Amino acid sequence: MYNAVTSQNGNLFIEGTALESIATQFGTPSYVYSKAAISSNFLAYQTALADKEHLICYAVKANSNIAVLQTLAELGAGFDIVSSGELERVLRAGGDPSKVVFSGVAKTAVEMRRALEVGIHCFNVESEAELELLNSTAAACDLTAAVSLRVNPDVDAQTHPYISTGLKENKFGIDINLAPQVYQRAAQMSHINIVGVDCHIGSQLVDIAPFVAALERLLMLVDELAELNISLQHIDIGGGLGVRYETEEPPTPNDYMSAILPLLNGRSETLVLEPGRSITANAGVMLTQVQYLKSNGEKNFAIVDGAMNDMIRPALYQAWMDIQPVTARSAETHSYDVVGPVCETGDFLAKDRSLAISAGDYLCLFSAGAYGFVMSSNYNSRPRAPELMIDGDQVHVIRQRESLEDLLNGEQLLPVARG
Ligand SMILES: *Cc1c(COP(=O)(O)O)cnc(C)c1O
Repeated sequence: MYNAVTSQNGNLFIEGTALESIATQFGTPSYVYSKAAISSNFLAYQTALADKEHLICYAVKANSNIAVLQTLAELGAGFDIVSSGELERVLRAGGDPSKVVFSGVAKTAVEMRRALEVGIHCFNVESEAELELLNSTAAACDLTAAVSLRVNPDVDAQTHPYISTGLKENKFGIDINLAPQVYQRAAQMSHINIVGVDCHIGSQLVDIAPFVAALERLLMLVDELAELNISLQHIDIGGGLGVRYETEEPPTPNDYMSAILPLLNGRSETLVLEPGRSITANAGVMLTQVQYLKSNGEKNFAIVDGAMNDMIRPALYQAWMDIQPVTARSAETHSYDVVGPVCETGDFLAKDRSLAISAGDYLCLFSAGAYGFVMSSNYNSRPRAPELMIDGDQVHVIRQRESLEDLLNGEQLLPVARG
């Protein structure tokens, strides 16, 4: 897929803008995205599906900035959401609610009501209990809920256990063997309209085989349902296509669809996809500045101003992310652990990296456009980083850096006790 960053003699650029100048002008830590890269990654899916009725629902949780959603909405994207917060973002960004699918294991009645009122494409229902609540909520609003059941095909996605979701032992979905019963139950409900089936087996998949295995199981279910007179309008195979962080060679959307589409030959159902990471990860970076270099005899540390609260993937998933100086330096090369200011040993961005750097240098953490800013927090009372979008020769601030005022917003002292 399209990587937003280009290197000229060791100096890094996004769409022709030097990252050094972005860091100098907007400060660090900061997130920087490329509009062209986001668009190009989305269009790669659209092109691969040109000959098939389809709906590409970008998984909002990967990067939910409203300018990112707006970019995708303008290209005709649908959206996969997991909360009413994400729904409001999609609406604010000009997204079409009739192209929204609502995933998640714990939707509340309040969330269901809002989604029913704006007329989303469908609810991806994950349990029989959720189906009951959705039916009664829809009845109370005098509306009908379009439903797909998220089934668990029991396929091993061969990815990190925290982001593998399609095995029996995971909390997600309905056991595919029990699905026909639940569909029959749904068919009897007054305010439920069955429209599809969905699955999502995990994230950062670099192999096509698990996707194919999952779809084969889904198709067996679709045929079984047809015999029960339950017909579906769409088949949603979720997201999960991996990206290159280090040396991975993930399939392109075109490779992926070339393996999937033959299985759908002669079938009229619309194909729905929910890609997240593969659209935004390599469309963005995080910039950070070296504050100090420190050596304890055995190890060298580059202490930077970005931390696990800004980017948690290395700490949470032992994720490997590339990190490089934004400008080529003549400093001596050493092996460094790149660590942040947070008071946790798990606070690192990278370990054992060979870098030629000095205090004050800016570093670029690559592939940070997905599951980056969205997972950030205020831990250690650190204001959250800004987000910037490069579009040709323009740089837009799409989220301001939080101020100390923002940080304290909403907190209250207790009333002063009177004696
Ligand atoms: C997270 C998620 C996605 C997106 O996964 P990526 O790996 O980012 O493509 C899609 N669908 C569901 C249900 C998800 O939970």
